[in-house]
Amino acid sequence: MTVYLVGAGPGDPGLLTLRGAELLRSADVVLYDRLVTSDVLALVRSDALCIDVGKRPGTDTPGADRRQHEIGRLLVEHGRTSAVVVRLKGGDPFVFGRGGEEVEILEAAGIPWQIVPGVTSALGVAGAAGIPVTHRGLASSVTIVTGHTLDRGGTPGPGHEPNWAALAKTGGTLVILMGMASRAAIAAALVDAGRDADTPVAVIEHGTTPAQRMVRTTLTGLPDVDLGPPAVIVVGPVVALAPRAPEAPRG
Ligand code: SAH
Repeated sequence: MTVYLVGAGPGDPGLLTLRGAELLRSADVVLYDRLVTSDVLALVRSDALCIDVGKRPGTDTPGADRRQHEIGRLLVEHGRTSAVVVRLKGGDPFVFGRGGEEVEILEAAGIPWQIVPGVTSALGVAGAAGIPVTHRGLASSVTIVTGHTLDRGGTPGPGHEPNWAALAKTGGTLVILMGMASRAAIAAALVDAGRDADTPVAVIEHGTTPAQRMVRTTLTGLPDVDLGPPAVIVVGPVVALAPRAPEAPRG
């Protein structure tokens, strides 16, 4: 009896690990998130119990906390009674996926668990779109950050907001997840702290899926980008290296 926290990768089933695919084929129970694509779920055995525990964006709202509590309860319940339980998360389970909290719950309940890492959208979506997140002479660091804690008015959330001023000064490549609702406030915070308003920016929506769309702009133009979640925002000179018209993803 083991609960496996499996990273589903960014969307394209070809980007799921071999270990992840093997576990999906043998799982008795699969609890999956909203970001997991139907192409990945197609690997699950037809007689497996498949539970949608998808959360709406807004992981800090009281409703989301209640749902997270319910996920913990289901993990413990099925972890005690089924041989192979897969907790399937978009991207990598430990990158903004609340995987750490679920491990704490399993530990407290004495249920064995394992992590099967996945290709995080932060790196995989940018890469598949032709953006090298580091590049000699252009970016010697890449920082992955959540944009979720800034509300639409630019007010930081309680106690765990990224330090945008410090991030602006660090330079390199910035990859922002969950940043679409706050994109105007994020762009303003970075420019106010000294990042060049002409810094290239790419927004990639539904990356690595047949629905992928990408817009290239600058920090000045970011608020006007007409794409929605799920999307990654890539900020930095490496964005200029992306091909103008990237090849359509496989699908
Ligand atoms: N654990 C996940 C991230 C969860 S947070 C990972 O490692 O990728 C959810 C955010 O991930 C979304 O708001 C979006 O910013 C990003 N994301 C996930 N899948 C994506 C995709 N296919 N295309 C673009 N962004 C994606």
